Amino acid sequence: MTRMQTEIAIIGGGVIGLTTALRLRAEGREVIVIEPNDPGSGASYGNAGTIADYAIIPVGTPAVLKNIVSLLFNADSPLAIRKAAMPAMFPWLMRFTYEAMPHRYRDNARKIAALLSDAATEWVDLAAEIGASDLLSAKGCLYLYQTPKAFKAAAADVELRRHYGIAQQLLSPDEVASLEPRLPPVEGGGLFFPNAINFTDPGEVMQILAASAKKAGVIFIKAMATGVAREGDGVRISAPPHIIAAKTAVVAAGAHSGKFAAEIGDPVRLDTERGYHLEFDMSDLPIERPVCPTNHGFYFCPMKGRLRIAGTVELGGLTAPVNPRRLEVLLANARRIFPDLGAPSRTWLGLRPSMPDSVPVIRPSKAGKSIVYAFGHGHIGLTLAPRTARMVSAILAA
Ligand SMILES: Cc1cc2nc3c(=O)[nH]c(=O)nc-3n(C[C@H](O)[C@H](O)[C@H](O)COP(=O)(O)OP(=O)(O)OC[C@H]3O[C@@H](n4cnc5c(N)ncnc54)[C@H](O)[C@@H]3O)c2cc1C
Repeated sequence: MTRMQTEIAIIGGGVIGLTTALRLRAEGREVIVIEPNDPGSGASYGNAGTIADYAIIPVGTPAVLKNIVSLLFNADSPLAIRKAAMPAMFPWLMRFTYEAMPHRYRDNARKIAALLSDAATEWVDLAAEIGASDLLSAKGCLYLYQTPKAFKAAAADVELRRHYGIAQQLLSPDEVASLEPRLPPVEGGGLFFPNAINFTDPGEVMQILAASAKKAGVIFIKAMATGVAREGDGVRISAPPHIIAAKTAVVAAGAHSGKFAAEIGDPVRLDTERGYHLEFDMSDLPIERPVCPTNHGFYFCPMKGRLRIAGTVELGGLTAPVNPRRLEVLLANARRIFPDLGAPSRTWLGLRPSMPDSVPVIRPSKAGKSIVYAFGHGHIGLTLAPRTARMVSAILAA
């Protein structure tokens, strides 16, 4: 075992760990990131790339609650559960259904809206700082509603977003067609978020973030953290073959963060909403901006040299293998819209770190700020990374 010493040790080098490392280092702190894989190669690599500052609606809503049984037990639905995962996920699901009740969902939306308020500006600034501005696109984002009934059913969410001042425009089927002419006609309509921005290659952004952090002096340790314990005024992290003594540990291990919080004495109901992507290499992309057919729960994402189809939720735990059926359904539903899609060039499974209320955990441990939590960002972790880094910095400065 080698013993190392640092001011701040960050467990996990996903987008949350990387942005936090960069920020704390820029403030003059000594930072180590502990990461067993290539930095940014977890959920942060394969997402839809949207800086979704409009996404204030939690996953659990009264509408989801109304259909929860048919959703969960239809293996092909956009929000399905693997049978084998049911016993282990039961406590999370119970909490999820509670959080989907009208009073809870409104409160959760309020908390999420507060976090999201400056997300786009913060990313524009950070992208400029690290030299990733050319990977940002600013053409808005489009939700599609296939039927008038679905369009009408979106009214409650539209109203809630209006309440929080989110820029959104309801579009007729003709207006959808003029915005994205290569989409097949929709009967319901669209919802356009004109100010939304997106990355055209989240994986490349992660590489740039990691390189910027290294250049700034952040030390990366390629190891798996296996335990965290308080030691004197600080903490001791086991990450074989290293033991790292730090003044502060930041737990940013994405969907794997729960065991550290439990070990420290702050049990949390963190689990994972597994999401998939398919990619099709192509130079002539059929869409200009991220487009979400809301009934299928995924985005068509215009990426550099390829179309990515990313999304859906599978409740299935951290260790189950890829479920080929989920990829087949994703492909079949994508082909309903673009029938000419051939075989995917590549496929991917990612683990969203998800709390039942869709509100991330960004706070010091109950026993003090020698341990700070920064995980549970669910569907909006890419969006919230710079904001999270700012919050962690404020916690440490307080
Ligand atoms: C299909 C899909 C689409 C999405 N689309 C969007 C989107 O459009 N916009 C958006 O904002 N968000 C989106 N998300 C969510 C977003 O990707 C995640 O919220 C975000 O990447 C979480 O970042 P993270 O750093 O917490 O986790 P991760 O990126 O998973 O990073 C956690 C890191 O911790 C490391 N780690 C784990 N255990 C240990 C350990 N014991 N010791 C050390 N390190 C450890 C892992 O190796 C990993 O690199 C999407 C997610 C999915 C799956």
